[in-house]
Amino acid sequence: MKSYRKELWFEVPTRRAFINITPDVVQCLEDSNVTEGFVLVNAMHITASVFINDDESGLHQDYETWLEKLAPHSPPSQYHHNVGEDNADAHMKRQLMGREVVVAISGGKLDFGTWEQIFYGEFDGRRKKRVLVKIIGE
Ligand code: ZN
Repeated sequence: MKSYRKELWFEVPTRRAFINITPDVVQCLEDSNVTEGFVLVNAMHITASVFINDDESGLHQDYETWLEKLAPHSPPSQYHHNVGEDNADAHMKRQLMGREVVVAISGGKLDFGTWEQIFYGEFDGRRKKRVLVKIIGE
């Protein structure tokens, strides 16, 4: 069995953003030489997410609106967590959007459903953060 590990680094200049990281994961897959197996992609921070969905700008704006309704950033004082920091909403947004994805690898390709793409969701940016890519298989 082959095994491959890589950390992808991000420094988003805004508090929140969605980034399509599918090309990065495809590059990892090519570097791994695995043709049959699985890839795990997970955010290594508790205020960021990795998720799969379609790559549409309207959809990303809708996520932003939906997440702000469920876990609004302001006022920061509404959260018990926000003593000396202001990112309680980012912890909750991460909980909603998830920590990781697993994708099957078949014939050397990511075995996606129609329109599926992998995204990094940043909810407390403006600092360096990591995503782990782990590939196992043959
Ligand atoms: Zn926090």
